[in-house]
Amino acid sequence: MLSSFQSLGWIVAGGCVLIMIVVVYWANQKLKNLNNPDLVSDEEANTAKQLAEKKATNESIIYFAQSLFRQNTVDDILWDITSNCIENLGFVDCVIYLKHEQRDTLVQKAAYGPKDDGNHQIVSPIEIPITKGIVGAAFSSRQPQLVSDVSSDSRYIIDDEARLSELAVPIVSPDGIALGVIDSEHPDKGFFNQVHLQVLTTIASICAIKLIKAKSDEEILKAKIEAEKATRAKSQFLTTMSHEIRTPLNAVIGISHLLLNEEPKKEQLENLTNLQFSANHLLSLVNDILDFSKLESEKVLFDQSEFNLLDLCEDLHHSFDKSAEEKNLTLELVAPAYTKLLVGDKMRLNQILTNLIGNAIKFSEQGIIETRCQFLNETSTSIDVLFTVKDQGIGIPKEKIDSVFKQFEQVSGETTRKYGGTGLGLSISKKLVELQGGKIGVSSQEGIGSEFWFQLTFGIGKALNLNDSLSLTIPDWKHKTLEGMRVLYVEDNKINSLIGCKFLEKWSVETLVVENGQTAISILEKDQIYDLVLMDLNMPVMDGMKATRIIRQLPNKKLSQIPIIALTADASAQAHEEALACGMNGYISKPFDPEKLFQILQKYQPV
Ligand code: ADP
Repeated sequence: MLSSFQSLGWIVAGGCVLIMIVVVYWANQKLKNLNNPDLVSDEEANTAKQLAEKKATNESIIYFAQSLFRQNTVDDILWDITSNCIENLGFVDCVIYLKHEQRDTLVQKAAYGPKDDGNHQIVSPIEIPITKGIVGAAFSSRQPQLVSDVSSDSRYIIDDEARLSELAVPIVSPDGIALGVIDSEHPDKGFFNQVHLQVLTTIASICAIKLIKAKSDEEILKAKIEAEKATRAKSQFLTTMSHEIRTPLNAVIGISHLLLNEEPKKEQLENLTNLQFSANHLLSLVNDILDFSKLESEKVLFDQSEFNLLDLCEDLHHSFDKSAEEKNLTLELVAPAYTKLLVGDKMRLNQILTNLIGNAIKFSEQGIIETRCQFLNETSTSIDVLFTVKDQGIGIPKEKIDSVFKQFEQVSGETTRKYGGTGLGLSISKKLVELQGGKIGVSSQEGIGSEFWFQLTFGIGKALNLNDSLSLTIPDWKHKTLEGMRVLYVEDNKINSLIGCKFLEKWSVETLVVENGQTAISILEKDQIYDLVLMDLNMPVMDGMKATRIIRQLPNKKLSQIPIIALTADASAQAHEEALACGMNGYISKPFDPEKLFQILQKYQPV
């Protein structure tokens, strides 16, 4: 509706401009002839004066119509009229009123003359009822009011200065709604004439179209700002809540791990397994919601650092060894050797592949799960990589295939009960792929299996060092011991450190727990015996990041290069990036997976 009126308005405005341009051109030609004194008579001089006036008024309109194409706010438009059009017309003052949004009044919004304080604001704007005075009459009747002698018009209201003539022109939208009034008064009787009236009416109708557009732009902007504010508030709430939830979850998951390791009775085993399953489910729910809300509300920055794709895939595959083994599934990785490092966001790639491989294991009862990387187009600076994760699992029914990438969608209501999951993993993966300019999709047959694929473009980094591709060490899970290793464990939360220590004790790690970064630094300097620091991030007195920065500056090389692993309850990619940026060697999210912790510690075990 609005847009058809707007189009009509633009056509009317365009027509006005065209006519005015022709008139101005004609007036200019005439004026050229009149400049020759031999040709000038009294009558012609008079004509010249009138033409000059007409030229000035027309130029006002042309100027104003042309400024239609600028990005204007309501204020800009109104002050543009008062500052740039009115003076050309020879008026001494002008006030523009707009209808109040809620009340039945007209409010002064912009002015030329005494009311203009020079700062584009009216110091004490007058508000008058929409039916009062000559201005009110113009508004209510939607007709211009030209009053040659206000002293004989009972509607006249004296404002700040008494005037003798007045011209009030309504600003009316193309669909006939009065928006306000342009009002000018003059000290001389009979000052305003029909030309003034026509000019002001043209300006008012162009103004109406501009105002409608500006108002709708302002409303859209306001709605956008409100929506962004709401999303930020939601994300902030979710971040705080999930952080709060993760801390007690740490205890639940840690203790259930410990109890399961302490040879529980047969009847306890089932309860403990259920407890662990539920706690892990809750944790993945918290992580997914947090991640999804962050992706929704923030501008996500993707890391651009070098990594070895083969290492990443192999590491990832090994992290699934145990869960595949438990279900008798075979994991296969097909990744051609590539002689260069890739440049991109390793962590986000890991996250997407983890989701796809995790799903493949979850939704398969038998068979092979194959992860394949294929190099496609390569230029001197970039390379496209196609990743596929193929399983021989339950598959996805045809009619559900389109919905699996939507948030909170699962193929059936039974899925959560039977397999766990939140229905967020694939929508997060889709967002991550698309935000990096890639594509993601799936083909699947119910009862036969699924093949998820995505394609991403990476930068090309430096050539691989031979050792790089052999860096992977597979931990020996059968004999979990880290005997001889000494760890300084910096953690203020008693339950967290209690659980952590139980694991470290099991692996024969000699551990000292301290409660904040400052104490950690003093102990490191004093004892100089530790092989690694496990560092919590949020702590009183001195947090983990600050402590790490100080340790990295210590003059003693052995201390300044000590491996520091962040223990963070903040699962966001940003927190992990910050931990690495301040000099930490790695991170592990709380509640931690004991196998991951073992893997990291083993990497830094002294030989
Ligand atoms: P969830 O946390 O439920 O796994 P996802 O977003 O990762 O959430 O997946 C959404 C749904 O898509 C799953 O609940 C499942 O119904 C279906 N799905 C995903 N991957 C597979 C797969 N490999 N085989 C069969 N169904 C799958």
